Amino acid sequence: MKLAVFDDYRIGVVDGDSVRDVSDAVPAALRQWPPALMNWLIANWSEALPRVLACRDAAAPLPLAGVELLPPNPAPSHVFAAPANYRKHIGELGSRAVTKGGRSAREQGFFLKAPGSLVGAGGALLLPQGSQRRFDHESELAVIVGRRARNVPRSEAMQYVFGYSCLIDATMRIEPGVAEEERSMRKSFETFTPLGPFLVTADEVPDPQALDNRLWVNGELRQQANTRDMIVDVAELIELISSVLTLNPGDVIATGTPEGVGPFAPGDTVRIAIEQVGDMSLSVREQPQRSPRPY
Ligand code: MN
Repeated sequence: MKLAVFDDYRIGVVDGDSVRDVSDAVPAALRQWPPALMNWLIANWSEALPRVLACRDAAAPLPLAGVELLPPNPAPSHVFAAPANYRKHIGELGSRAVTKGGRSAREQGFFLKAPGSLVGAGGALLLPQGSQRRFDHESELAVIVGRRARNVPRSEAMQYVFGYSCLIDATMRIEPGVAEEERSMRKSFETFTPLGPFLVTADEVPDPQALDNRLWVNGELRQQANTRDMIVDVAELIELISSVLTLNPGDVIATGTPEGVGPFAPGDTVRIAIEQVGDMSLSVREQPQRSPRPY
């Protein structure tokens, strides 16, 4: 099943180029903070599923082209991310890389992106106004966690996956010797984590380690790899993160980027496509306001 969040945090089931509103499957008493509804739906999926299906079958199809797609989980409690998780990517950034000595995600662990940096397929990638810095795209498979997970060995980890989505890990690069801000801040500007277009449930992705992952800028193919080349696979990422803290239903794990990372600028269009998971394009623009602190 393909799940979407759209307009004013409506929850929908996607079928082809239409979406059916299933928001009524979530108890009305829970609707005080609509961005968090998907966390509840994921956590209670097996008991909610009959209501989701009943709502779907009763709803009129809305054309996807007529709705605004938000991130398919707009308010996860965490967005975890793997650094240096494809061998050929390690080293390609030279002096602009903060990862030294060829260390992979297996040695480094994970970092965090702010959940507030998420944006959906209906949004745009917004760069700081007037910036002269370099901003890069990273094309990544996102894992959406299905159950609370703490100290989960990799042999059991796939039972904790709810589904998958496409994720662009946008990054402001360091300027070697000039500006080496923290990674979590450089990757957490508003809209720097496009997620979508949908959340595809795990039953539709039998092998997440065999998916073509591609990214284009203005129609030019920049990144092309397969998730089989991940150094730390999805199961081991869950083992690694859950060894540190509790993963919650709806949490997002960005699994790292393959080679081909490169810059984008206002006016560009960035497209990500991951086999069996989705395909979305976002335009790149400048933030409408200049920030009091320039970047
Ligand atoms: Mn990344």
